[in-house]
Amino acid sequence: MEKRLEELRQQLEKQCLISEELQRQNRELEQRLQEKEKLVRELQAQYHDLEFPPPIGAELEPEFRKSRAAVVAPEPIPETLDVGKARVKKTDGETNLIVKAIQKNDFLSRLDDEQIAMMVDLLETFDVSRGGEVIKEGSEGNSMYIVAAGELIVTQAGRDLRTLTRGDVFGELAILYNCKRTATVKAKTEVRLWCMERQTYRTIITNKSKKKREQLLGFLKTSRTLKDLNDVQLSKIIDSMEEVKYQNKDVIVREGAEANTFYIILKGEVLVTKSVNGLQKQIRRMGKGEHFGEQALIREVLRTATCAADGPVTCFSIDKEVFEETIPVEHLELFDDSKMLQETHAPEKSSLSSTLRLKDLVPVLYQEGRFQGDPVTLGVGAFGRVQLMNALNHGKYYAMKRVSKKHIVGKRQEEHVLFEKKILKAIQCDFIVRLHATFKDTRYIYMVMEFCGGGEIWTKLKEVGRFDEQMAVFCTACVVEAYAYLHKKSIMYRDLKPENLMLDACGYVKLVDFGFARELVRGEKTYSFVGTPEYMAPEIIKNQGHDFAVDFWSLGVLIYELLVGSPPFSSSEPQKIYSKILDGVLKYPPYLSEAAKSIISKLCRPRPGQRLGNTKNGIQEVRHHRWFSNMNWHKLRMAQLDAPTVRLIRKGPCYINFDRFPQDQTKADEEFSGWDRDF
Ligand code: ATP
Ligand code: MG
Repeated sequence: MEKRLEELRQQLEKQCLISEELQRQNRELEQRLQEKEKLVRELQAQYHDLEFPPPIGAELEPEFRKSRAAVVAPEPIPETLDVGKARVKKTDGETNLIVKAIQKNDFLSRLDDEQIAMMVDLLETFDVSRGGEVIKEGSEGNSMYIVAAGELIVTQAGRDLRTLTRGDVFGELAILYNCKRTATVKAKTEVRLWCMERQTYRTIITNKSKKKREQLLGFLKTSRTLKDLNDVQLSKIIDSMEEVKYQNKDVIVREGAEANTFYIILKGEVLVTKSVNGLQKQIRRMGKGEHFGEQALIREVLRTATCAADGPVTCFSIDKEVFEETIPVEHLELFDDSKMLQETHAPEKSSLSSTLRLKDLVPVLYQEGRFQGDPVTLGVGAFGRVQLMNALNHGKYYAMKRVSKKHIVGKRQEEHVLFEKKILKAIQCDFIVRLHATFKDTRYIYMVMEFCGGGEIWTKLKEVGRFDEQMAVFCTACVVEAYAYLHKKSIMYRDLKPENLMLDACGYVKLVDFGFARELVRGEKTYSFVGTPEYMAPEIIKNQGHDFAVDFWSLGVLIYELLVGSPPFSSSEPQKIYSKILDGVLKYPPYLSEAAKSIISKLCRPRPGQRLGNTKNGIQEVRHHRWFSNMNWHKLRMAQLDAPTVRLIRKGPCYINFDRFPQDQTKADEEFSGWDRDF
């Protein structure tokens, strides 16, 4: 008995010792953890200082965007173009020079391999004699160039900027849109250039992107698992898929491993092998258009064979998780939204009031002490000027947008203007500005809209630097409601930015400016280059074809700009903005909440099919994101919420919430081509 007691006592002592040792180790670990945390905090602070260096003489504040963003208006793409004729044969040396030049260029190097290959194909030579001018500052650009031989000099406002030599690229922004040239380029010596026109490039890339989508659709249709899905759903899957490249002998899937990805082969060949008695036995060889791993999308399975690249292989792939986000798996055979689409085309009662006449509207004038000054201009955009008007008979205020017809024709915007009217006329949504009447004369077209007296979000943001979370949540929620309305009517907005968001007198936000909006059938894509650079989605820049998903990308950019004061991808040079967008790296200042960072990164996902708002539950998933956890959507729609934005609205004359713009002294030329017959 005593022996047993002694044994137990010894055991207890041993346990005590172990427990003490464990406690000591614990304390040590805790101390190390604290040290690590301290280090992390220090590193974070250093990172913050690097990312957001304090402006000289200012506190720790990120740079706010100071100027209004420029817009890029889409231009029609020619329907037919002889592609064969556009191709120019090149020697290996020439191809080499061009490829090197493209790789060296910050923006061009970020384009897809295919786009680069296309560029190499399309460039043609062009000789310039000494002193000849290639690009003129201030003119509109149509071509980009690569120097093949000779030297050129770049000047800006008469100042020499730099010399261009063999292998240098210039004017590359012109392949995207008709931008203004910011410098003059002249030949210093005899010069040979490689040159390419935007119209050629864009037409060919567009056709290529379209063909690629059609081909992918065809590939997907051969999958037994996906055969019951309609084109709209298959198109969504394509939007979620990602390109992956493999080197020779790379194993893509391994027998016995957990399966969670589906692959389509775009390029190259894949060897399928199975282990039989410890030896790898080849079962078959697969090529372009064939797919493997489809079971992984709908079941928990293990790979039954190994697939390895035989030579370089490019696949298009989608993970199970992403697939489930895109298509409701349980509805694989039942889901059919074609009926939903038809309903959205039902005609709406026009909201145009026929009683309003142009001659009944008088301009409101600035009050200068006891005197009356110039007519009030509320805003000036790329296309028009918006004036504050007063109705003679009932004293109500209106905002009247006036656009020069000559300017519209010059910029080939006829269709957009007609469409802006058509859309706004049909819209009845509290989060979108109302159009009350339209007029035209020989010089201008006029759109008489509801007056949003609270001013632009852009002006307010500039005044306060950045919005607090509550304010940003409210503004964004209004935009989400406007989007829900528009998308349901199959309309993409495509020009979200603080400049196009207005506050009404109660502080509710409304979308204005439908110049870039467009109707689109679900499942289809459009290929125009359109929007405001800082807000453009990567698929627009890459000309891959875009749809409603671009509105969710810009929503992410908007949230960022509201909370930070400047958009996430910005630079004074558009090329750099585009490069940053294609890189897609979001850098968050430390004061952003986790929820804010989460919603921004989900909205700004590079693949449109993976973007919040464009996954299987649509816009509802945006509403359900935790950043909006305090939002009562129903009350918002009923205008029963107190808008936090009222704090931003100043009291005084009705134009007090607007910047002051100089009076327009010029008169537009008359225009008689008749495009505005239906306006
Ligand atoms: P953009 O360059 O953005 O295409 P635009 O010429 O198409 O501009 P809008 O954006 O429609 O013109 O309007 C220009 C500015 O006029 C707006 O940013 C805003 O400040 C003001 N504005 C437009 N509509 C209204 C309105 N309904 N109430 C008050 N101000 C308005
Ligand atoms: Mg605008």
